[in-house]
Amino acid sequence: MTSEYEAAIGMEVHAELLTESKMFCSCRNAFGGEPNTRCCPVCVGMPGALPVANRRAVEHVIRTALALNCSINAVARFDRKNYFYPDLPKGYQISQYDQPIGVGGWLDIETSAGVRRVRIRRVHLEEDTGKLMHLPAGDSAVDYNRSGVPLMEIVTEFPPDMRSAEEARAYLVGLRAILMYIGVSDGRMEEGSLRCEPNVSVRPIGSDQFGTKTEIKNLNSFRAVERGIAHEIERQIDVLRGGGKVRQETRGWNEARQETVVQRSKEEEQEYRYFPDPDLVPLRLDDAWVESIRSTMPELPDQARRRLIAAHGISEKEAAWLTQTPFHAAYFDQAVRFHNAPEQIASWLMGDFARLLNVTQMGLEQSKVTPDNLASLVRLVDSGQISGKMAKAIFERMFETGAAATDIAQEMGGQISDPQAIRTLVEEVRAAEPDVWDALRNGDTKKTTYVIGQVMRLSRGKANPQETRRIVEEMLAAPETAS
Ligand SMILES: [Zn+2]
Repeated sequence: MTSEYEAAIGMEVHAELLTESKMFCSCRNAFGGEPNTRCCPVCVGMPGALPVANRRAVEHVIRTALALNCSINAVARFDRKNYFYPDLPKGYQISQYDQPIGVGGWLDIETSAGVRRVRIRRVHLEEDTGKLMHLPAGDSAVDYNRSGVPLMEIVTEFPPDMRSAEEARAYLVGLRAILMYIGVSDGRMEEGSLRCEPNVSVRPIGSDQFGTKTEIKNLNSFRAVERGIAHEIERQIDVLRGGGKVRQETRGWNEARQETVVQRSKEEEQEYRYFPDPDLVPLRLDDAWVESIRSTMPELPDQARRRLIAAHGISEKEAAWLTQTPFHAAYFDQAVRFHNAPEQIASWLMGDFARLLNVTQMGLEQSKVTPDNLASLVRLVDSGQISGKMAKAIFERMFETGAAATDIAQEMGGQISDPQAIRTLVEEVRAAEPDVWDALRNGDTKKTTYVIGQVMRLSRGKANPQETRRIVEEMLAAPETAS
């Protein structure tokens, strides 16, 4: 990154809300399904069909706004946002314009430079559109199953507070975690239930004006968000350096080419002719209702992080990793309940486990390894029944098959605990490295670990480490025999 320019990044995040039914009708709200099977006259926009607001969706948005430190407007209103597109059967989208549910909040994010506060301008409620599908034959089809799904939009404040792709990613990571903890969103970016549209501009450092911004679409992973923004910052700096002007436009992230490409230019703000929807009454968000939602607020990621540090003495970094989703936190809680070894369990989760999840492109939720099973593996190591090396081999099998750690350990021939067998191995080490043995005899006890390590190596990790230590100590204590 260059030094004479700085970036300013804002973000709009859309989240489909976890409700049973759609925003303004009783059709089922669920991902996928046969096209056009979850539709009714309301959500396909038949003339005369009347919308009724989904109370649960309104509560989800209030809960989100509270978790993001927003004020709640006493009266919120639904407005019609008019535009024409085939995925929008009514010719307008029901949204909120000047009286959204939540305003003026913030989210603190962790970055390599410390904590930064990102201000939030508004949190509002609207409905999702249908989905256009472009068929191989060149035709297009539209699926209205998604039409009318409750959609929440969270918009950062202007002027923008974020300055780098790393910060934008941290904001999205933090926001997604909150939405998942409070149970309003499943956080699935790859399925499009959580979507983000950053806007990016650059300006010479020291300038009090912001540059022309572009919007980036099609970012469906954290990695795409970070790379897309980093690429767009570089691209804009190159344009300015070459004496050009950045044009206001919407750009799409091309994952294959790892670059942003123009989708459409946006010379002027589209005229949406917002006006209050005459079919819907304003929402009266009285204090009693808001307070009852506040009082049932579940644990937020920050609180979970502090709780884990206090309860288990794990590091800040471990706690942050373990609280990235409520599923991670619950997994860890459950494993520690089963076997109280928080350090070791955290280290498995962040080490071998995370590595295999990464290789297989899976989330922790999809893994076959249950928290109890992971805990029992750690217990086998702690009780000296298997070596650390063997545990790694067992874990790979657990990960593949979901079989119990204890079963695999037994099946793999378990462990060598027979004193005579171990004594033979120790003698082998002594014969191979007499200097080490002499040092040990002369009181260099640090060499014990080394000898145990060598025995483990010879036994391919199967020697019982506790038993090996006992035998080494026994042999040292015995009078030297001529060899
Ligand atoms: Zn419907």
